[in-house]
Amino acid sequence: AGQGAVTDSGGINAWPQLAPALPRDEELEARIAGLLSQMTLEEKVGQMIQAEIKYITPEEVKQYHIGSILNGGGTFPNNDKFATPDDWRQMADDFFAASMDTSDGKVAIPIIWGSDAVHGHNNVIGATLFPHNIGLGATRDPELIRRIGEATAREVAVTGIDWTFAPTIAVVRDDRWGRTFESYSEDPEIVAAYAREMIKGIQGEKNSDQFLDGRHLVSAAKHFVGDGGTTRGIDRGDTRISEKELAEIHAAGYFTALESGVQTVMASFNSWNGKRLHGHKYLLTDVLKERLGFDGFVVGDWNGHRFVEGCTVESCAASVNAGLDMFMITSEWKPLLKNTIAQVRSGEIPMSRIDDAVSRILRVKIRAGLFERDRPLAGKTGILGSPEHRAIAREAVRKSLVLLKNNGGLLPIDPRQNILVAGDAADNIAKQSGGWTISWQGTGNTAEDFPGATSIYTGLKTAVEQAGGNVVLSENGDYTADTFTNGEAPDVAIVVYGENPYAEWHGDLASIEYQLGSKEDQDLLKKLKDQGIPVVSVFISGRPLWVNKEMNLSDAFVAAWLPGSEGAGVADVILTDAEGNKQYDFTGRLSFSWPEQVHQTVINRHDEGYAPLFGYGYGLTYNDNTQIANNLNENGESYVDGKLEDAWLMVSRPRAPWKLFIADSDRDPLWVSGNLAKSDDENITVASIDMLSQEDARQITWKGLRAGSVLLQSKKPQDLTRYLDEHSALTLDIRVDNEPDAPVSLQIACDANAA
Ligand code: BGC
Repeated sequence: AGQGAVTDSGGINAWPQLAPALPRDEELEARIAGLLSQMTLEEKVGQMIQAEIKYITPEEVKQYHIGSILNGGGTFPNNDKFATPDDWRQMADDFFAASMDTSDGKVAIPIIWGSDAVHGHNNVIGATLFPHNIGLGATRDPELIRRIGEATAREVAVTGIDWTFAPTIAVVRDDRWGRTFESYSEDPEIVAAYAREMIKGIQGEKNSDQFLDGRHLVSAAKHFVGDGGTTRGIDRGDTRISEKELAEIHAAGYFTALESGVQTVMASFNSWNGKRLHGHKYLLTDVLKERLGFDGFVVGDWNGHRFVEGCTVESCAASVNAGLDMFMITSEWKPLLKNTIAQVRSGEIPMSRIDDAVSRILRVKIRAGLFERDRPLAGKTGILGSPEHRAIAREAVRKSLVLLKNNGGLLPIDPRQNILVAGDAADNIAKQSGGWTISWQGTGNTAEDFPGATSIYTGLKTAVEQAGGNVVLSENGDYTADTFTNGEAPDVAIVVYGENPYAEWHGDLASIEYQLGSKEDQDLLKKLKDQGIPVVSVFISGRPLWVNKEMNLSDAFVAAWLPGSEGAGVADVILTDAEGNKQYDFTGRLSFSWPEQVHQTVINRHDEGYAPLFGYGYGLTYNDNTQIANNLNENGESYVDGKLEDAWLMVSRPRAPWKLFIADSDRDPLWVSGNLAKSDDENITVASIDMLSQEDARQITWKGLRAGSVLLQSKKPQDLTRYLDEHSALTLDIRVDNEPDAPVSLQIACDANAA
């Protein structure tokens, strides 16, 4: 729903006219001009390259005058996740020294290192891990966001890194998007308010001594623009909306980010009405740089230029001409550098564009003090994961929790009781931290990965034991007469479960039904409930999901999002103190609408007929005695008002899981969106399906089907054609919800040429 034709062309007037955040500084501009006049074309284009650190050495940085490096996806160059903060700093020093080496008689331009510190300095062992943005969205506390930005910058500064690829200021419109958790809200207002504060926190207040002072670093607002608005929430997909909607909803965070003086903006992988942002001159140049007064630089996203029409990963004049100032590039940086230089020589890229791009890069490097190499916190490892920073993260956890259900006032729990803690997320810091934690996909859960961190269970245990109660961890919920020292049964069970970590398209969903492990989780909840034990669900997730069944099986239900390293924040709120007095109340409010039906993937409080299970802004406190019915619809609904275009023929519980594997070479998402033709020739379109990549070809459960025409498309039509040559048709054996026992066979009728 809501993905209709684009009617309103809008034009430049859809965008506010903004003055540059910082006044023009003649001295600075003269310094830029002076540097530029001494640089060769090779040196200039070198500045426009940001190479991934696994593919470049300090020697090459010096030889090719490379302007920037990144550690993409998080890991340390040689994949050593146990690199110490000093290892990171040493590496930063080595690259920096190489860039400043003038022995070849060239101009010394300091390199700038960018890293995805998206919820704290999350790539480094021992750093404070703050709740992911979706949890912060629920805190409704912009001042807290600012303190988090400041603490993150300080931890990054310890490792000698100059630049964080944060914040993501996407406004999410479809919760199936795998990056929903990186967004503060489905609502532009919260995103705008937080973008302002997060950037002030990271960079310091503009026009103050703190601005980019080495304790405050360069921030990147990402991903410009419309990343959260793609059809069906497909990561790196197409955002098909009017210009007015693009500006008012998806760009809302950019106006405040720019006002705070954000120094870099990352171009988005997505396209807008079919045209890729990495090659979008109108949006990058006319809108962002001219209309909105942005005088910093635009960095590309991970080889993102290769998607631009006519480009390859090694060659993309169109991106530079559109206004991209720095390429983010992996192993192909050398040919890209060479080709770009040749394109300037041949006149394909005007020299003025190169000078503009390099001036912007130099402007940011000078403002950030990189020429003077003032890194006051480098090597001060005590700052990383310091008690002060962990206290901020714990406060953020407390404020991010949203109480969705508390029947009979089960919470808060008196810790002087027998408390059974169950669920596979109870004592699992990786799971409670989500993607972008130590590694890109947030894998790994050994204790050594998270020194100083506290799981939700550990937090509960500390508090319960201090109060003289009994707490036992039993993931599967089993217990015996010996489990509790007093020989009695549990008084209450706290079950912690939810989504496993993911990042980017790996987290894209076909359906918002909570599926992962949900059968086991439901069995666990049911087992406890059947014994008459009151059950509290603490749900770990990067988005609202359809959890009616789990909700029905819980007396209390807490949306805990992805809280990060300070699991004790959960105990602070859900337990009373040792005298039975409430400590902290719930203050978190939903910044996303919570669905009542499986088809509600795009719901927004401004929609006509808005009918979520829990609306935007919902969140109970201990003073509320709202009872949530335990008979929420468990079927996910079949039809909406019988109107055919909106109708969802809900086909659930596929009899046999259906698998489709299509080879893909890189990190490219490869998606298939299909139409299914029912045997009686009635056409049914798949409204959403999963995306696949080679590393992640996985089982798809097709859920929402609706009427439409036949279309099967792929980013790599040749792969699909090959696949279809070998398998002329695919048959799905599924059941229609209202006839649970009658299997309906659907056959994919595909037209590969429609791609
Ligand atoms: C993501 C960016 C990230 C970059 C570097 C990309 O795949 O889209 O958000 O900053 O990788 O790791």
